[in-house]
Amino acid sequence: SVFTKSTKLEPETSWKKGEAIPYSALCKTFELCEGTTKRTEITTYMVKLFKQVIELTPDGLLELLYLCINKLCPDYEGLELGIGETLLMKAVANSTGRSMDKIKSDYRDTGDLGLVAKNSRGAQRTLFAAKKLTVPFVFKTLRTIAKISGQSSQAQKIANISKLLVACQDSEAKYLIRQLEGKLRIGLAEQTILSALAQAVVLTNKGMHYGGSKLSEAQREQAFTKAVEIVKAVYNQLPCYDMIIPALLKYPIEDLADHCKMTPGIPLKPMLAHPTKALTEILDRFENRRFTCEFKYDGERAQIHRLEDGKTTVYSRNSENMSGRYPDVMEKVAQWVAPETTSFILDCEAVAWDREKKCILPFQVLSTRKRKDVKEEDIKVQVCIFAFDCLFLNGESLLQKPLSERREKLRAAFVETEGQFAFARHMDSNVIDDIQSFLDTSIQGNCEGLMVKTFDGEEASYEPSRRSRNWLKVKKDYLTGIGDSLDLVVIGAFHGRGKRTGVYGAFLLACYDQDKQEFQSICKIGTGFSEEALQTHHDFLQEHVIGRPRRDYLVGPNAEKPDVWFSPVQVWEVLAADLSISPAYMAAVGEIDKAKGISLRFPRFIRIRDDKKPEEATSSEQVADFYRRQSGNTSGGGLEQVGG
Ligand code: ATP
Repeated sequence: SVFTKSTKLEPETSWKKGEAIPYSALCKTFELCEGTTKRTEITTYMVKLFKQVIELTPDGLLELLYLCINKLCPDYEGLELGIGETLLMKAVANSTGRSMDKIKSDYRDTGDLGLVAKNSRGAQRTLFAAKKLTVPFVFKTLRTIAKISGQSSQAQKIANISKLLVACQDSEAKYLIRQLEGKLRIGLAEQTILSALAQAVVLTNKGMHYGGSKLSEAQREQAFTKAVEIVKAVYNQLPCYDMIIPALLKYPIEDLADHCKMTPGIPLKPMLAHPTKALTEILDRFENRRFTCEFKYDGERAQIHRLEDGKTTVYSRNSENMSGRYPDVMEKVAQWVAPETTSFILDCEAVAWDREKKCILPFQVLSTRKRKDVKEEDIKVQVCIFAFDCLFLNGESLLQKPLSERREKLRAAFVETEGQFAFARHMDSNVIDDIQSFLDTSIQGNCEGLMVKTFDGEEASYEPSRRSRNWLKVKKDYLTGIGDSLDLVVIGAFHGRGKRTGVYGAFLLACYDQDKQEFQSICKIGTGFSEEALQTHHDFLQEHVIGRPRRDYLVGPNAEKPDVWFSPVQVWEVLAADLSISPAYMAAVGEIDKAKGISLRFPRFIRIRDDKKPEEATSSEQVADFYRRQSGNTSGGGLEQVGG
């Protein structure tokens, strides 16, 4: 259309220097991003916006950035959006005077509440011209809404949302509603935002000696690459925009790392491993390199931070503060450190421990522990911490040091205490028989298998937030299947019959495509459930039934439609015999086959993964990788390539 053509060339939205950023400027950019799937184009739009903000209203950059990643604060502060659709529909009804029935029916037709909100506004009669929304106002109000709790919280939330909706113009209502839902879904990945931010800084000449606009194109490209590298590296060490943005605006970008250093108290995104199907694969991968095998403990990842003043925090795999789950750990940490140890960040697995038999208990036992507000006197399941890495010690980051050195430091700085704190068991031989028997020992000890890691040299550094090929996992049970279990999101269910009448008899699962930001169906699952589990799933999931599949659900055209759909709220670990190409499922569509997806054969339920968010489910890329490895064709997913 004429409209998209003209906006594509030049988003006219601007504002006066020093003024609050209009929300419309952000929404205009969102609209441009949504209109393309090309990463480079999206980056260009974001660079433009960030540049404008840095030049006109740098104070607003942090809030703007949070709105772009659709967060209200760093993950560890735990303030989240994700308002239920019924409440949002009520707010739309409230602010436009339309009936709930009409809104519900529009929603059934479009599947996009944002769009419904936008279109409903057309019907709205405004008696006065509302003040234009600004980024700080929207951000502040979203925070207020997320914090509302207790009695009459529904009404208060609706009132606040309505207040925003009434002032919305053009596409603002659409994006506002999506922000409230907690899902923007415009293909704006955080890595893209980091790139765009770095490039915008180069262009604005903000403290850079790179020369900003005076650079030739080639020089500029070079400066971009360098800046992006710096910003991403800094973010890996200090994933906290509250600290990075002010520093980025204040100091030359080449000095950023000096001002934003890894800090205990700010959780890092953990390093992750690649699965392997056979022990020989390890030898292939690590040919001529030194590596080490460790037990793969089967519990819950715990990143333990301690500041110099003694303040201790335990973080989960996805940077949530878990201190309330482990008061016992918090209290004992001080007894595990050597006298000269002051501050640290440890990477560990928290595992259930049998006090009498003095042995590790299976994961299922740990999962019976409450997730929040655990009182020490109520603790029935004792936890033992198995430390496998040390990322920071006595004021110094160890990320760049090889594992050999990090392990040495870890062992010198801490003291084992039986049943409370231990170092991960390891074995450094690269003889296949030794590895096999170490694997057997780990399984006998209630572990999941082994982690095999590069031991020295550059490739043995710690790579935050990466699924790296320098860490391989070997799970005994899965050596015969596809090499690993998958973590999938439950998006639908089929009513049970016969013995399963009254509960759901089978479920539709999906993996997550991080680029396209969509849930792609992967299989129907009906095995691996005890009667009790089926009841539990039914009780939990029926609270999350939605009227129709969401806009970001991708289901095959020939698929059997489930009887009910769910919001993406829970991740299940699933085992499968193998993978096949299927027209009915959409996982990794376009990767192996243009129109068909990949599906799991003989899937079996293993357990709920409470420590993973739906967006952290097995990715489409991983599914495609599994498929390629199974068919012995690794082209495109080359083994030498480092993941992430
Ligand atoms: P899964 O836990 O199902 O294997 P994941 O995606 O959570 O998958 P992976 O990177 O695939 O994580 O596997 C590594 C996980 O194993 C870590 O997140 C950690 O919780 C656990 N773990 C247990 N022992 C170790 C160890 N010695 N070294 C590293 N991780 C370990």
